[in-house]
Amino acid sequence: MFFKTIDFSKYSSIKVGQPTEVLMIEKKDTIPHDRYLIGGANNLLISPTPPPLMMLSKDFAFIKEEDGYLIIGAAMPTGRIVSYAKKNDISGFEFCSKLPGTLGGMLAMNAGVKTYEIFNILHSIKINGEWILAKDIAHGYRFATLNGIATEAKFKIIKGFDAQRLEALLNLRSNQPHEPSAGSAFKNPKDDYAGRLIEEIGLKGLRKGDMQWSDVHANFLVNLENGTFEDAKYLIDLVKEKVLKECGVTLLEEIKIL
Ligand SMILES: Cc1cc2nc3c(=O)[nH]c(=O)nc-3n(C[C@H](O)[C@H](O)[C@H](O)COP(=O)(O)OP(=O)(O)OC[C@H]3O[C@@H](n4cnc5c(N)ncnc54)[C@H](O)[C@@H]3O)c2cc1C
Repeated sequence: MFFKTIDFSKYSSIKVGQPTEVLMIEKKDTIPHDRYLIGGANNLLISPTPPPLMMLSKDFAFIKEEDGYLIIGAAMPTGRIVSYAKKNDISGFEFCSKLPGTLGGMLAMNAGVKTYEIFNILHSIKINGEWILAKDIAHGYRFATLNGIATEAKFKIIKGFDAQRLEALLNLRSNQPHEPSAGSAFKNPKDDYAGRLIEEIGLKGLRKGDMQWSDVHANFLVNLENGTFEDAKYLIDLVKEKVLKECGVTLLEEIKIL
């Protein structure tokens, strides 16, 4: 293992944070238990005082085929997984296109688009060195209880990359803001949309410093240029408070605040 300084104002998708020492884990290492693991930082908001961080090194960025299964390392970026699936005519990964991150982040978040979620196509995950079947892992809308560090995962190979599905999913993305963000800030409450609630309480488009509730998609907290953690946190807390008071709904963050 070795330390690497990562500047989260550049590395994180929302472009908030500061240069921070991150412990890089290599294949030969025993993974420490006292550090928070990050992936591609596409769903994170880093505070000025984050917990000690670690990240899987490129040793975990692999993809291979074995006995009819695709075995993918947790540090593999989603874009490279989709390219591999396309090139090798493999079905199921089309929805990962334009869903930024690494496989590890997708597994931990049960990331997905509409009805497509990573757990739908997952066979098993190697967690803390042990293979566990997907059906034995508690999971649901934007969560999975991994209880540890995922280092690789297995998917049954089904032939037939669906270019039309890919196209349809890409079109769905066309209404997303172009400014830096961490995707949806809140999970959608049951039978409703967080974005609709933010509009209802009149905070769509609200700006504090350089952070703003997007006027394109209300549930996206966007960084207009030099947005800070404090401004982002202020806007998140304000929405939670007002939505609870005015709509009686407790919004839960999808974004992880560290
Ligand atoms: C523009 C934009 C659009 C987005 N659209 C969507 C969308 O449509 N649907 C959706 O689901 N998400 C969406 N997201 C969120 C993001 O793409 C996903 O949550 C993605 O899976 C995050 O992956 P990551 O590697 O960046 O994880 P990170 O953000 O680094 O981490 C997320 C969580 O995963 C955990 N984690 C990471 N790696 C591992 C591992 N190996 N083992 C155990 N835990 C791990 C971390 O501890 C953390 O809790 C969007 C984000 C952006 C910026």
